[in-house]
Amino acid sequence: MTEIYQKLENIVKKEFISNSLIVRHAYSRVVDPVLQGIPDIVIRPKDAKEISEILKVANEENIPVIPRGGGDDEFGGSKPIGDGGIVLDMKRMDNVLKLDEDNLIVTVEAGISWGKLDEYLCHYGLYTGCMGPGSGMTASVGGGISHQSVGGGGCAKYGACTNQLVSLEVVLPNGDIIETGSQANKFSKIPFNRFGNGPDLAGLFCGDNGIMGVKTKVSLQVFPRPPFAAYKTFLLPRKDRQVSSQIMLDVRRKGIDVYDLMYIMDLIMRVGCDQGMFPMWEQLKKKRGIIFYTVEANSEAELQEKVKQLDTIILDNKCEALGPEISDGNIAKWHYVEQGHWQFYHNLWGMVPALEPLSCECFVPANMYPTILDDIDQWDMEHAKDMEIFTKVTGMRPITGSGPIFLIDGNNVELTCGFTSFPSYYNGENHEGWDELNLKLWKSLMGMLTTKWGVQWYMMGEMASRIMAQLDAYLPDYYKTLKAIKKVLDPKNILSRGKFEFWGDGNK
Ligand SMILES: Cc1cc2nc3c(=O)[nH]c(=O)nc-3n(C[C@H](O)[C@H](O)[C@H](O)COP(=O)(O)OP(=O)(O)OC[C@H]3O[C@@H](n4cnc5c(N)ncnc54)[C@H](O)[C@@H]3O)c2cc1C
Repeated sequence: MTEIYQKLENIVKKEFISNSLIVRHAYSRVVDPVLQGIPDIVIRPKDAKEISEILKVANEENIPVIPRGGGDDEFGGSKPIGDGGIVLDMKRMDNVLKLDEDNLIVTVEAGISWGKLDEYLCHYGLYTGCMGPGSGMTASVGGGISHQSVGGGGCAKYGACTNQLVSLEVVLPNGDIIETGSQANKFSKIPFNRFGNGPDLAGLFCGDNGIMGVKTKVSLQVFPRPPFAAYKTFLLPRKDRQVSSQIMLDVRRKGIDVYDLMYIMDLIMRVGCDQGMFPMWEQLKKKRGIIFYTVEANSEAELQEKVKQLDTIILDNKCEALGPEISDGNIAKWHYVEQGHWQFYHNLWGMVPALEPLSCECFVPANMYPTILDDIDQWDMEHAKDMEIFTKVTGMRPITGSGPIFLIDGNNVELTCGFTSFPSYYNGENHEGWDELNLKLWKSLMGMLTTKWGVQWYMMGEMASRIMAQLDAYLPDYYKTLKAIKKVLDPKNILSRGKFEFWGDGNK
């Protein structure tokens, strides 16, 4: 390995490459406690040219390479499958390259975080619309595009972050560097449109989970932040799942361009309050499900009209409005004004110390999620015996359920569900078999959602893409076509080897 290390070091310089044990372990996991793969080398390139050279070496030596942005993936993805390979840490490439204020397009290096980008844009009265994922303080724009991310605010109005994509610069697995959209014309002066000059090649890299190329430069549409906004929170009546779903459908049917519309189930409300996570709701006598909205407008009159229409729908569904201030329980205000959309999930994930998330995130139609949630409850009951194994030792039962459910493009919602369990190393002791049990349960839940409901996994990490393959869930000709494209772009399967299980599940 030392000769290869030397070749790579010559590309990036000494301080941007490491094979030390501590660094390799630091890059061996993402958010979940179960999946681990320890890379041989971690490397932090500064530009597309360096990445191209790294990929050429990887091809010569047949070494897998895994791109990593913020490393906020929840189920593998930005770490190797099995041990070995090179992790390509993109976070050094975190600059804004150009803001085209006339055409409202920003061009950034792919390793920049959504937080840094939006902080920059706010000085110009602009924002990214979809604020990336809920992990946007650390998650990168390149990771978001690779995942079709949505969730960090603005989802009901703008949809997933890939909707705003104008063009990409991508280093292909063989080291070639391409640009997409208007930039495919070498005479084009500036990125200005995604579609045209041939098929939408950028689409191939959206949601690819890092298998088709390394995104190095991203041009996104940006938007003027409207001067008026209203944000309200409501307590749902009983049957909160059905009622919240009905509200979402009604809002879409009326064509109100709500910015965010989010449902938080009663379980999260109760457990979150017990854990001191939601001080704004502690005084509420009824700990029921919550629904909240944010709406934006260009004038006070427009805003009031939208608020009137939204309130009518929500109050007709027997919800109870909470007061206007955050201390009254108005989480919508915190979410929008204090950028709670980027603070929310990190707390939820660590709701109880040592309780680890084994989550799955998918898109489903808004009229479907109440029944899916019922099925998830049923799944939990059917696995009570397994859950008891953890409860006996920890005194706490793993919690199954869903995080916030929010309206995205069309009539769809983003459904974050799963269970919070315990890692095998708990309270100073190693508990044999726990990792395997967690993995078994996790796969079982994702399997149920895949085969019974046909949910759409949008960020696939390593878990979802492999489960789709293992369960034979892809239409055969779709899978064959995807595999053929991968083969053309990446004949040695260098990039993100093992995802989608095109050529088996291993890292070799
Ligand atoms: C607390 C928390 C909240 C979250 N909330 C949301 C949410 O609301 N919505 C949502 O969609 N997701 C959410 N996520 C999941 C995840 O953070 C997002 O999907 C995020 O966009 C990942 O970005 P990242 O930079 O961390 O990507 P990473 O985890 O580093 O990588 C994700 C995938 O993209 C690939 N990749 C990364 N950068 C590149 C690149 N430049 N070129 C090619 N491939 C690349 C990786 O190989 C990997 O497959 C959340 C995660 C956490 C921990």
